[in-house]
Amino acid sequence: MCSQVTVFLEREEIFVPLALHQYLGDVNQENNDEQKGDKQIELLTVPSGISCQSAMDVVKTPLNTIACENASDHSKFKDMKTLSLNDLPKTYQNDDILALIKSVAELAVVVHVPVSKQAGLYWQGTGKVEEVFIFKENTQCRCMKCKASGNPSKEWGKVMIATSTKLLTARKYVTEIKCTLFHDSEEGEATLAYLNGDAYTSNEWGVCKFFCYTCDMDLLNKLDAYLDVFEDKWIIAFAKYYKTIKSAEEKFLVMICHPHACKKHVSIGTWSKLRPFVTFDAATCPGCEGSFLVIPCFDVDEDDFS
Ligand SMILES: [Zn+2]
Ligand SMILES: [Zn+2]
Repeated sequence: MCSQVTVFLEREEIFVPLALHQYLGDVNQENNDEQKGDKQIELLTVPSGISCQSAMDVVKTPLNTIACENASDHSKFKDMKTLSLNDLPKTYQNDDILALIKSVAELAVVVHVPVSKQAGLYWQGTGKVEEVFIFKENTQCRCMKCKASGNPSKEWGKVMIATSTKLLTARKYVTEIKCTLFHDSEEGEATLAYLNGDAYTSNEWGVCKFFCYTCDMDLLNKLDAYLDVFEDKWIIAFAKYYKTIKSAEEKFLVMICHPHACKKHVSIGTWSKLRPFVTFDAATCPGCEGSFLVIPCFDVDEDDFS
């Protein structure tokens, strides 16, 4: 007998885990690393999820032409154009899952941070837009341009970005963090958008969240709409799979990343552990630190991620 299950979920009720790729090689040596901080930076022996760059800009070279210090197989990364149902495990070969992955990808950002002690050297990782707040009256824009102008815009907003704490150990000030959005193709200069960090909000479990202020209303509205799409796609996928897929059996994971500061890619694999940090077998490269991990484990709850 077949029974139809209808799931009604309020937006406030949905739990979407904020799981980020964090390089695990030095988790157990955290104290050690803190002590030798500057020395480590001088030697360029950065955690392997971080890419060292000589410019605070995205890379326009195709990923498959870049030499990899991690010796990762770059053909395992799919770009958003070539990603297809065949790249997904059998049980997830459905347009709703593909749409979910693509909706998260719209929220991915390239994160650049200047290394404190080394002029002309930048650490690069990946982050994700977490929340957007838009203000339309009685307040003044706090973006750098408006602060300097003396005539701040009254319509403005702030964008919360989440990334790995490890990436930000190279920074002095939050204002030095640069985010590049919509780096989707090697030719995509016209579509790129930029945000600068302006205030830290939290730093827990290896996840750092910070705000960027802007009065680019088109950008704010676009990101706000992408967040809504992501939630909608998550709810649709939840309704479809929560009864039938056992996460303990599938352990499906998709990393949305900017390896080597190249355009957006996904890396697909399985997770083996959710706590204290997510461990997985998907291909990773320098530049993937802080990448959002899509883990559609609809039968696990918040406690499994804490
Ligand atoms: Zn690589
Ligand atoms: Zn402004």
